[in-house]
This record gives sequence, structure tokens and C-alpha cells, in this order.
Amino acid sequence: MDKISIIIPCYNEQEAIPIFYHAITKTAESLLDLQMEFLFINDGSTDGSLKEMKQLAEKDERVKYVSFSRNFGKEAAMYAGLSYADGDYAAIMDVDLQDPPELLPEMYRLITTEDYDCVATRRVTRKGEPPIRSFFARRFYGLMHKLSKTDIVDGARDYRLMTRQFVRELLRLGEYNRFSKGLFGWVGFRTKWLEYENVERSAGETKWSFWKLLIYSIEGIVGFTTAPLVMAAFLGVFFCVVAFTAICFIIIRTALYGDPVSGWPSMTCIIVFLGGIQLFCMGILGEYLAKTYMETKRRPIFICKETNISHDAE
Ligand code: UDP
Ligand code: MG
Repeated sequence: MDKISIIIPCYNEQEAIPIFYHAITKTAESLLDLQMEFLFINDGSTDGSLKEMKQLAEKDERVKYVSFSRNFGKEAAMYAGLSYADGDYAAIMDVDLQDPPELLPEMYRLITTEDYDCVATRRVTRKGEPPIRSFFARRFYGLMHKLSKTDIVDGARDYRLMTRQFVRELLRLGEYNRFSKGLFGWVGFRTKWLEYENVERSAGETKWSFWKLLIYSIEGIVGFTTAPLVMAAFLGVFFCVVAFTAICFIIIRTALYGDPVSGWPSMTCIIVFLGGIQLFCMGILGEYLAKTYMETKRRPIFICKETNISHDAE
């Protein structure tokens, strides 16, 4: 009998956990020929999330939990989940029911009968999301599509069902700065995409502020393409050409018409402008350097404080 591990990252989700549990057990009833494991990851919640998990674990032995020593972020929670999961298949699901559990039977059918290694989901609408957030999200995916060779799909969710082999390869990517939407694509294999309409949160509110998302998107860009570095170099070449042309122009003009001293305001503007460009490029460089620096420290991705799982993380 196949076993599916459902990985559920939770950060301050005490209201959403019971609702989620209710929904997922209902789905599990339609998958009777399967063994299930519900692996809740408590990502350093400050509310009663852990208590909820423990209560569920007491009455249902399929419920497992891993509790972090502090908030490490959803990426770390997903990594922890994958490394503790021991099912033949693993799925990642948000606890707020924005990843509909009803899709799971279809995903399982596809992965077992149609020779896929991974069944992933993407939202085709962003209904209910603040328009400005949707706007920037679309720009980000557009940019990533142009800059990076790795396939990063617009509207892709972290909700996906993976085979053991896929998970094992994913776990080998033990980088500290994680951007799963890119990592999933990077490992390759055959992925089937299921589409669905956006669902609004069941309870509680989103943990992603605009600022957090912006930083996450920079993580994505720096993690999956070095194109900004090339862009900085091109910008340098471009300004050299412009400067050289301007020098020639000024020399010729001075030879023909003499050199009245004027134009210092425009000179100041040019200097400030170039200073800005230089700082911008240094910022790009710094961003890559900082990521390299963090990576070389080889710090653990998460720290587990307590769990009811007896085996070690892979
Ligand atoms: N989450 C987490 N750690 C964090 C932030 C979020 O584990 O630091 C979890 C959260 O509990 C939820 C999932 O990640 O299960 C998605 O978060 P959310 O619904 O807030 O994001 P959105 O759906 O708005 O993008
Ligand atoms: Mg959500």
C-alpha cells in the first residue's frame, strides 16, 4: 500500500489548523487504499498552533508534527517537511486551504497511472488578491522568464505531489537561500500542471507582506540567474562608448569654436547620474556577494525543537 506524506507549513495558524484537518481527513476518506501522514511543521508560531497540532496527534496517529526553535520561513518549513517525510509520495499544502485538498485524488491518479514524477498546480486567476500585488507578481514572473533558464511558471503554487525520487533529488539541493519555485523546475523530471481558480484563505490572514515578497523575489532572481551581473557589465561598456563619443565631440567643437567655460550644471548632473549607476551596479554585486557569504557559513536550514517523529531527518 502506497503512503502519501502531506507536508503542511504553519506559522501562527491556530484557527486554520482544525479547519484544514477536517478538510484533509475528508479527502483521505476518498483515498482509502492509501496510507496517509499529515506532517505539520510549526514554523516558530507564537500562538496556539503547536497545541492544536499536539491535540490532533493525540487522537489521530497519522498526525505528525515538527516544531522549530523559531520562525525560519516557509522555505525552511518545506525543506524540513520533505526531509522528515517518509511516504512513497509527498505533497506540500498550505494550511489555509488555498491549496484545495480535493485536487489530491486526481493528482495521485495522474502520478501513478501516467508516468509523471511530479504533479504541480498553478492558479489561473488571482481573484481576491490586492491588485498591486498581482501586478508586481506578474512583472516578476515575466522578468524571471526572460532572465533565467530554469522554468518558473506564473501562478505556480508550492502545492504539488512528488515521487520519492523527486524528493530525494530536491533534498540534495541543500542551499541556504532557498527559492523552491525555481528548485522544483531545476531538478527537472516530468511535471504535469493542473490549473485551478484562486481560492481565498479559510481563516487568519496572509503572512506575506509586500516587503517580504519583494525580498523573496530578489532571492529568486539572485538564486536562479546571474543576468544582472552581465547587465551591470553592459551598462559599463555602454557608458564608456557614450563618454568616448562625447570626448570626441568636445575636442572637435573646442578646436572649431574655442572653449568658453560654461555648462557646469549639466556636468554636475552627469557626475551624479553616473555615481548613481555605479552604486546601483555595486548593489547588484553586493547582493550576489552577500548570498555567497551566507551560503559559505553552511548554517542549518532549520532547527527542530520538538517532534513526535521517531526517525531522523533524511
Ligand atoms: N508560512 C510559514 N512560515 C512563514 C510564513 C508562512 O510556514 O514564515 C506558511 C503559512 O502558515 C501558510 C503558508 O506558509 O500555511 C502560506 O502562507 P500564506 O497563506 O500567509 O501566504 P499566501 O497564501 O498569502 O501567499
Ligand atoms: Mg495562503
